[in-house]
Amino acid sequence: MQLVILKCPNCGAELQIEANRRECFCTYCGAKALLDDGSTRIIDEAEVLRAETEKIVQLKKLELEQERFRKEEERLQKKEALFKKINIFLFITFVAGLALILIGLLSLSLMLGAIGLTVSCISGTVLICMHVRE
Ligand SMILES: [Zn+2]
Repeated sequence: MQLVILKCPNCGAELQIEANRRECFCTYCGAKALLDDGSTRIIDEAEVLRAETEKIVQLKKLELEQERFRKEEERLQKKEALFKKINIFLFITFVAGLALILIGLLSLSLMLGAIGLTVSCISGTVLICMHVRE
């Protein structure tokens, strides 16, 4: 097993690691070092984690925003549909009311006509009776 010695990029301590490993942790400061093409880079785990967490949080926020937007749109559509229904209902009520008024007027005039007919019949009879008595 070939060992290489390298300096910890964080604290400068000498580390002995296997040559074929791609990453290692400093035994002194705990920093994670990535070993690619012979050079060492320090990996700030906390920074990576923070960045990833932030990315996830941003994504979640975006998702929530989209969800809220979708819900808002849905709500508006429902409202619109409700208004449409209410409008149709009002229109039907209006037409029905108009029809009822027309029917009422018609029956009223029929009633008045019937009353008029009765009155004229009675007065006619009375006139005839009076005429017969004379
Ligand atoms: Zn170190």
